[in-house]
Amino acid sequence: MDQSNVAGVDGPEVLVVGAGPAGLAAALTLARAGIDVLVVERHAGTSPFPKSTGLSTRTMELLRTWGLEQRVRAGAMRVRPLLTFSRTLAGPVREAVHFGYPSEEQALAVSPSSPCYCPQDHLEPVLLDSLRSHGGRVRFSTELTALSTDWAGITAELRDRISGRRSQVRARYVIGADGPSSAVRSALGIAAADLGSLGEFVSVIFRAELTRRIGRMPAALNAVEIPEAAGLFVPTSTDDRWVYARQWHPDLGETLADWQPARCAEQVCLAAGLPDLRPQILAVLPFTMGGHLATAFRSSCGRGFLVGDAAHRATPEGGIGMNTAIHAAHNLGWKLAWVLHGHAGEVLLDSYQDERRPVGSDNVLRSLGRGSDADGLTVDLGVRYSSAVLDGGIRHSTAHGTVNGAGIGGRAPHAWVRRAGTHISTIDLFDGQLTVLTGRDGAHWRRATDALAAGGLPIAGYSVGRDLGEDYGRFALDYQLGEGDAVLVRPDGFLAWRHGGRVADATATLRRAVCGALGRAEVDSRAVLNGSEQPCRRPRCA
Ligand SMILES: Cc1cc2nc3c(=O)[nH]c(=O)nc-3n(C[C@H](O)[C@H](O)[C@H](O)COP(=O)(O)OP(=O)(O)OC[C@H]3O[C@@H](n4cnc5c(N)ncnc54)[C@H](O)[C@@H]3O)c2cc1C
Repeated sequence: MDQSNVAGVDGPEVLVVGAGPAGLAAALTLARAGIDVLVVERHAGTSPFPKSTGLSTRTMELLRTWGLEQRVRAGAMRVRPLLTFSRTLAGPVREAVHFGYPSEEQALAVSPSSPCYCPQDHLEPVLLDSLRSHGGRVRFSTELTALSTDWAGITAELRDRISGRRSQVRARYVIGADGPSSAVRSALGIAAADLGSLGEFVSVIFRAELTRRIGRMPAALNAVEIPEAAGLFVPTSTDDRWVYARQWHPDLGETLADWQPARCAEQVCLAAGLPDLRPQILAVLPFTMGGHLATAFRSSCGRGFLVGDAAHRATPEGGIGMNTAIHAAHNLGWKLAWVLHGHAGEVLLDSYQDERRPVGSDNVLRSLGRGSDADGLTVDLGVRYSSAVLDGGIRHSTAHGTVNGAGIGGRAPHAWVRRAGTHISTIDLFDGQLTVLTGRDGAHWRRATDALAAGGLPIAGYSVGRDLGEDYGRFALDYQLGEGDAVLVRPDGFLAWRHGGRVADATATLRRAVCGALGRAEVDSRAVLNGSEQPCRRPRCA
């Protein structure tokens, strides 16, 4: 065993296994918060395949927060946000239904962002660049081969797939973002419950001059019903790269060898209704339209976490899987960063599973045609965590609330405001800190906020009419803020607490709220505010 990288020598605070969207988003959230993070990925680079093409409104809000929205939109396809049905792609559309995302107009009524249709192989390099620019380390062609945990951290064994060299890395925590067959999940002793399958599919990735030939702007998903080649066409680039996906039957002996380029081209031409198309076949990939859910998102020893498909694999139906992965990665990332910085209690990390597992479960079931009846926008923006109201103890469950409501545990509403002469969304205020928003008569809350900030806590306060101007009079209304009221928003933009009416001691009241939101009992509050070391409250690992 190569000992050049043993415990503590080059150990990051957090090791992330897998550089897919979940791993990159988790690592980026950590790196932006100043945490030393190392990502290991067994492939030589990010995925060369388009896979997911739908980025939801909430995902675009996060990309906006990270300063990446425009770079991602630069790779966006021009598509209609629809699922259409026709006999062949070039034939007339028989029926068009919503893809599951809101229209741009619907999204912009409640958000500064709107959905974007952009392939995963454009998104991942954008996340990677940003991660590196924030000091995140990434080692490609590096595979996790073994993982063990103890009370103080984790030890990972890695293999460089080019040189064959083996090394060990020690970290405080590990995040398994290593996809559906997660080795981290197995090493942590966590099972995955099979939630069902819609069958086996094969994706043919090809280039062809299709957009001009079909004579209309393609839909995000284009189902074709011709019996000999029924399937789905998905535009996956700005320059006529497409995926044609259809069901196949490996259970009946079909293999990838049956899908040679000539057969793929023949099927694409048939399904497109364009016999002379001459598609250039780029790749053929099988995938299972299946769903699973890990039985836990945090290991029993507390040092390991699962995000993305390692935790919850959805089918591509509804464009949910990658978005759920990114939202969960963000949820975990800020919590780990705040615990590692000593601002939050270790117990806050349990709320990752409490908040995100119900969302993961609902979204997987939804992608399998089961799950809640909520519309796509509500599923995306209306998530409501009850454990955001910690008040000294984590409570479970997640439900769907109002899309842009001001309920505790929900996403803090978007409203356009003016700050220092610039128009911003309230969503732009929250990153990297706790935020106190108050009504016009908020001087006592601002003094309380300043007192907590003076103790080293990242917290900032803004009052309507003083720090934030309301162009459309929506802000106080949307946040239901009376003159002397206050709300507390977490760094992930979720509402943790509100106070209405008179208050005897604003500093003590706000300190209690902060301790609740950060998973600390009030007795520990001064320690929280001083950023002191946190003991692990979990039983020690064997
Ligand atoms: C055809 C298709 C279409 C889809 N369309 C959509 C859509 O429109 N919208 C949507 O939201 N979702 C969609 N999805 C789902 C989406 O692609 C996944 O949910 C998403 O990729 C999950 O991201 P992840 O980071 O969790 O996992 P992955 O993207 O699978 O990344 C995991 C990474 O971990 C690496 N890894 C694994 N084991 C190890 C190891 N031992 N050591 C080091 N590295 C390792 C892998 O190489 C991989 O790069 C689609 C999926 C498919 C297949």
